[in-house]
Amino acid sequence: MAHDHPDTTHLIHHPYQPPAGFEAPQPGVFKASTVYFPTVAAMRQREWKDKSAYTYGLHGTPTSYVLEERLCALEGGQQCVLVPSGLAALATVALSLLKAGDEVLIPDNAYGPNKALAESELKHFGITHQYYDPMNPADLAARIHERTRLVWLEAPGSVSMEFPDLIEQVRICRAHGVTCALDNTWGAGLAFQPFDLLGNGQLGVDISAHALTKYPSGGGDVLMGSVITCDQALHLKIKLCHMRLGLGVGANDVEAVLRALPSIGLRYAAQDRSARALAQWWQAQPQCAQLLHPAFAGAPGHAHWQAVCGPSGGSAGLFSVMLHERFSQEQIDAFCDGLKLFRLGYSWGGPVSLVVPYDLASIRSQWPAHLARGTLVRFSTGLESSQALIQDLAQSLAKHLSA
Ligand SMILES: *Cc1c(COP(=O)(O)O)cnc(C)c1O
Repeated sequence: MAHDHPDTTHLIHHPYQPPAGFEAPQPGVFKASTVYFPTVAAMRQREWKDKSAYTYGLHGTPTSYVLEERLCALEGGQQCVLVPSGLAALATVALSLLKAGDEVLIPDNAYGPNKALAESELKHFGITHQYYDPMNPADLAARIHERTRLVWLEAPGSVSMEFPDLIEQVRICRAHGVTCALDNTWGAGLAFQPFDLLGNGQLGVDISAHALTKYPSGGGDVLMGSVITCDQALHLKIKLCHMRLGLGVGANDVEAVLRALPSIGLRYAAQDRSARALAQWWQAQPQCAQLLHPAFAGAPGHAHWQAVCGPSGGSAGLFSVMLHERFSQEQIDAFCDGLKLFRLGYSWGGPVSLVVPYDLASIRSQWPAHLARGTLVRFSTGLESSQALIQDLAQSLAKHLSA
């Protein structure tokens, strides 16, 4: 019988199978929506929840399983789900654990979009929230009540970089039997171990959410997130919600993260070193009213940073500077615009240094007593030399913010 186009059935159902046993530094990239079953019986029996097999691309592929396992190794966890962004990781935790009538507690210095999620979608679902003072564990304890189901932790807080008493916060959640989830994007599994904060296996968070967009990707070119746990029942709750929401990640993006992961320790340490060099330089500038970098003595939460990261511990390539309140917004904007190596842009962890001025008054419930008045500018260091970055800061400072 004649076909109206060339018959390529033999290409689609080609019998060739490459030999097994291919080994190379990077795992293969498997892309699938459909996954085959040899028989109907196998189709009915196959189980994806325990990762013993494959049923559908959305439920996992060899590629996604490999990244999940490596991220568990990075963060010291046991189970992992991958989601399309860091924010999706935060949302997946909330939607997995909260229902109408429940309450979530969020630190006042949390990643802004996590607060926005609570103020909009969660509120519409009948889930209430309160913001607690990240620097006062007693305030957290006082806000926990019988409807509290989830406490978010962030160390340090976004933008203002205060390091909370993470150990005490987790103890409070334990004592009240409330699940605690850490946004571990800054620590990245490198600065401290979220599931083993004391180093003796006695205390850790229940959930670690991580924006892989930052250090695991390292390129400024991938959006992805992970939710890691150490408890099979908790993981299953999250995994089922994740499955019902249809949150898949693209195999090429997984590949990009797998490719960057072996160098994460080197990049993190280099960006940390560079950030400290810049922060030290800022400390000597009269325009700087306050340095916000948890590894620096005198910065808010420095002792708490030491307690979980160690006295010579790691710190990400991220810090903020409170510029003196005598400078106008226009002057600060001109200073940021005048930088040549630092680019204006959100996110961090990539090769290019970034700068963002923030209006802190608009993102905090009230101006914290431990922060100087002024305009906050956040810097994230890329992989440029710290001398070149300091020269860049100095030239724009001299031009736009004269002491
Ligand atoms: C960037 C970031 C996120 C969100 O990550 P995206 O992949 O951009 O959605 C969440 N938490 C923190 C602390 C972050 O810095």
